[in-house]
Amino acid sequence: MTEVVTRFAPSPTGLLHLGNVRTALLNWLFARKHGGRFLLRFEDTDRDRSGADYIRAIEQDLRWLGLDWDGAPLFQSQHAARYELALQQLAEQGLAYRCFCSESQLQLDRRLAASRGLPPRYQGRCRSLSADESGLRAGDETHVWRLRVHARKGEVLVRDMLRDDVRFALADLDDPVVRRSDGSFTFLLPNAVDDALDGITHVLRGDDHLTNSAYQVWLLERLGHAAPVYLHHGLLLGEDGAKLSKRSGSHSVAELRRAGLLPGALVQAMARLGHPNMPDDALEPAALAAAFEAAHVSATAVRWSDDEMWRWHARLLHDLPADRLLEQIAAVLPDANAGFAELIRPNLARIGDAAAFVRLIDVQAEFADEAWNVARDAGSDFYRQALDLWRQTLPGDDPAAVWKAWTQALRQASGRAGRGLFMPLRAALTGAVHGPEMSAVLGFLGRNGVAVRLEDMARRLRKAEEETG
Ligand code: GLU
Repeated sequence: MTEVVTRFAPSPTGLLHLGNVRTALLNWLFARKHGGRFLLRFEDTDRDRSGADYIRAIEQDLRWLGLDWDGAPLFQSQHAARYELALQQLAEQGLAYRCFCSESQLQLDRRLAASRGLPPRYQGRCRSLSADESGLRAGDETHVWRLRVHARKGEVLVRDMLRDDVRFALADLDDPVVRRSDGSFTFLLPNAVDDALDGITHVLRGDDHLTNSAYQVWLLERLGHAAPVYLHHGLLLGEDGAKLSKRSGSHSVAELRRAGLLPGALVQAMARLGHPNMPDDALEPAALAAAFEAAHVSATAVRWSDDEMWRWHARLLHDLPADRLLEQIAAVLPDANAGFAELIRPNLARIGDAAAFVRLIDVQAEFADEAWNVARDAGSDFYRQALDLWRQTLPGDDPAAVWKAWTQALRQASGRAGRGLFMPLRAALTGAVHGPEMSAVLGFLGRNGVAVRLEDMARRLRKAEEETG
């Protein structure tokens, strides 16, 4: 097998969204699986809408996701001569022609066809203009360029890894516009010509491109190029089953990064979507690539799930190396230290959850209502008692034994038991009503840390009790 070469070919007219991530990832996985190359090509022929900012943002997002590309990015804006030449070659063979039909004329044709129950195809009015006439009119009449694809006989065969080869009768195809009246090329020609000249062997993309592929195979064969092998996967739908859009819950990668998502969570959720049998322990992109099987990719539509992505996030968070976990938490709580990060790690579904435990590192921090209510119900006397008994509890190396001894004594003294005893202690020490094991909390805070928090709690409550009378 010759070297596999795939590509991700975004138009830099916006930020990277979930749909683009899927396409990029599938092409990356396929290339890496086969030890091939993965190219990045910006399809920036639409000069008005393409922006340098979007190019930078897309590169940044791909890097963040770990989808590295080979070589320098390619830009269609730098390859105009390629497309000119291809069109010229097609025109010389009579396979491309100028079309002078006005938009209003075409609209009328389409309406007429619809009223007769016919497909809205180009009527072929300019197909048989002589080269002379066409050349003459081109001087002062606006025109587009079309490919002469439609024919009574013949077919074009699209090689697809998920389907048996897909056959298109030329009679069912149109004469597509490849060059607009402003001289710019539509997507069809530059995309196909680049695939051929960049040596792209495989193109993985959504099945909404299937008909485009038919035109592109036709075009490449006429130009004497081999067409790539395609994989047309089922589309990615939003949570509501509708086409992915802002409304159906699509996100930009930038937005997810800002929300604190680990890039691996997006990669995991996306790689497994519509690809069953991914091993559970393939937690790195390279492992996903090794396990990737093009034939397993779903040919039918799949639905996105934010919950699934965030479940991966929680799982990856729990396995994150200590220094990276601390780095992430410190972005939310600058005073965080390694012990704090490890203590709360099992209680984090998202990094932002760390804020609920700020009292563990900052006694001055405000209380959340839930914890404050629990503490207020217990009252300041309870905390005084807890503090006295804490001072009397013998220190020891085993925080679980210390916790047991302390709470046993406090149960007898206060008459509280079970949740009524543990919850107020948790609230005072951690600032939250759920969280890490209390013995681990004692171990983290140390004798003084516990005492300071009990005292502070008693003081705050006394003040509140005095105010309310
Ligand atoms: N620029 C095209 C797009 O963003 C590329 C499609 C393809 O992968 O061939 O839809």
